[in-house]
Amino acid sequence: MQWSHDRRKIIGRFFPDLDEHAAIYKDLLHHHPELPCQEQRTTSVVASRLKTLGFSVQRHIGGHGVVGLLPNGPGAKVLLRSELDALPIIEATGLPYASKVEQVDADVIKKGAMHACAHDMHMACLLSVAALLHSARALWSGTLIVLFQPNEERLLGAKAMIEDNLFGKIPLSTVCLAQHCVPTKSGTVAVKPGRVLGFLDSLAVWVYGRGAHGATPQLAIDPTVLVASILTPLQTVERAAEVVQEMTPDIVADDSVLLALPPGNKEPIPYVYWNIGVTDPETWDRANRVGKLWDLAPTHSATYTPVIEPTLRTGVGALALSALTFLHVNSGT
Ligand SMILES: [Zn+2]
Ligand SMILES: [Zn+2]
Repeated sequence: MQWSHDRRKIIGRFFPDLDEHAAIYKDLLHHHPELPCQEQRTTSVVASRLKTLGFSVQRHIGGHGVVGLLPNGPGAKVLLRSELDALPIIEATGLPYASKVEQVDADVIKKGAMHACAHDMHMACLLSVAALLHSARALWSGTLIVLFQPNEERLLGAKAMIEDNLFGKIPLSTVCLAQHCVPTKSGTVAVKPGRVLGFLDSLAVWVYGRGAHGATPQLAIDPTVLVASILTPLQTVERAAEVVQEMTPDIVADDSVLLALPPGNKEPIPYVYWNIGVTDPETWDRANRVGKLWDLAPTHSATYTPVIEPTLRTGVGALALSALTFLHVNSGT
């Protein structure tokens, strides 16, 4: 197919320097994670990089949100999205560039901070693709919108950006594209039509006990026992398959979908969300051979360890190809 050939040629010819972007990933992003709503430093790294490339940059949208625009003639307006925030986890990967950061979280408790959801890899891929498409801009037309949203882990960042007049600050996009790392084999991309994600919500339950003298334990109410009796049945509900099957289509465990639902817009903007693997291929193959894939460190764990290659190369290729699928490419490039 000609169009696919042209796109692959552009990606091959303008593929960004991976060593440079791996260094950004390790030294500027992974080593310096920031908790939700505190992504000040990360925002500066992203914004200055985009400015250097030649994007027009807007900051402080819905908190620390950043958007880079590259208008490049007529054609589709393609929005690519990454998150900015990290998790309150003490990193235990032992990597030379592991985080040692501690931050005071919203509950005023000092915690470790770690990019245990690989938002640093998403940022590195998106910055790489911004560089690729900027260098290749003579070969495509349309508008490129790169969006870095804050506070994804609490599922509030996209909403905050929209409520801060995001859609008055950027053109309405034709399509929204985003990717997320998962602990499958690095070098692979997972995509399928239809719904792929489940719903996530948090709730706080207060269980009240009553104190009493040690000589009269019969007059006390022990909240620990009450909590234990509540937890076991809740665990059963979480695992019930029927719950997953009954999900409504407009809820996902990632708020990127909100960027495809501009308020007042009759039709939602089409969006695609896919996964890229991060586990070292040999480690994954070995675990697969002995039936131990569930033992691999999952996302949101202290030992989650994406291998930089071939994860970065795969993420850049997938994101660039997706963007060029919607942008107008001059044929015969
Ligand atoms: Zn996460
Ligand atoms: Zn995430």
